[in-house]
Amino acid sequence: MQERALKSLAIQSVVAMLFIIVFSNCITFYNKYVGVDSGNSKDKSIQTISAEEISRQSANSEINQFVDMEVGVTVSDISSNYLRIKKLYTKNTDVFLKDVYMKSGMRLTIENLVSKDYTNTDIIKGENCADILKSVELHYKEKADGTYTAVFDIITDTVYVQKLYEDDMYYYIELLDPHQVYDKIIVVDAGHGGDDTGTYSRDKKYDEKDINLSVVLYLKELMDEQENIKVYYTRLEDKKVYLNPRVNLANTLKADMFISVHCNASKYDDPDGVEVLYTTNAAKTPISSKHLAAIFANTFSKDLQMTNRGCLKQNEVYIVGNSKVPVVLIEIGFMSNEKNMEFMKKQVNRKRMAEALQDCILEGYKEIEKE
Ligand SMILES: [Zn+2]
Repeated sequence: MQERALKSLAIQSVVAMLFIIVFSNCITFYNKYVGVDSGNSKDKSIQTISAEEISRQSANSEINQFVDMEVGVTVSDISSNYLRIKKLYTKNTDVFLKDVYMKSGMRLTIENLVSKDYTNTDIIKGENCADILKSVELHYKEKADGTYTAVFDIITDTVYVQKLYEDDMYYYIELLDPHQVYDKIIVVDAGHGGDDTGTYSRDKKYDEKDINLSVVLYLKELMDEQENIKVYYTRLEDKKVYLNPRVNLANTLKADMFISVHCNASKYDDPDGVEVLYTTNAAKTPISSKHLAAIFANTFSKDLQMTNRGCLKQNEVYIVGNSKVPVVLIEIGFMSNEKNMEFMKKQVNRKRMAEALQDCILEGYKEIEKE
């Protein structure tokens, strides 16, 4: 009896040991071949990349752009939703409107006021307009010359393309559906930002957030020339942006593509190349996330002669899994790999990466137009 019990115990131990060996090898394999693009685990970020280059580039790249006053338009020309605000004086006021699309809103600034005459109820939605106005916050700034500036932060129900008009009585802000204005709309997201530095190079001199932003700023230069595609960016400066507003922007805009740019890392030195994450949660039209991911992985790796690690389904990654529109999260290289890192360090190569991303976008549209 005792002998049999001992025998079975021995067999059980051997089986358990074999299991542990197989299991630990599986973990090693997983860590080695599946990139771990983890969040912040570094205490201090040392920015050697391009801090200068980035600030020079992002100086004229604020995502919130001024809307020009359109001349020669009368209110009878406005056919869609609009807001209006009465004019207090007939002259000497300066009006500026900035699109703040990340908040589905805008900032209206009226300068050279003699006193604090406006209230936040002075922003009125146009007659017969839908329930477009969500909130208005007003604050004043006093200038050295004794005049006041009224700053209205206006939130609307969704993202609009805004147009600014005036007549003798009012300023008008026309609100247009972006798809009414642009044929093609995409959202480009530079991963991480601010105190969310992302992953980092082995020598800890390079933060992922900076490489992502640098590549996206070069991509913007290229896409600015591409007049038929409207690109909305989630950030164009070193700034923290939460994940929810990023994916929300793409969903609200019903973008044709949502492209999130990241760098990869592994605890091993050898994994290298490009990898693209996709989801099965998003709508399959105008193209499935999986199909778009394959186009990005192929085009990007071919353009830059990089290893193509293929595509990974990642419904649990927030930005990917919560996207309702065709999404790709492209890991453009491994910061833990010497060859990839040496490549990404060079400005000229980050420009090439931006060109490759532009190719990916254009290839994506070719497929969309086929379907
Ligand atoms: Zn990342």
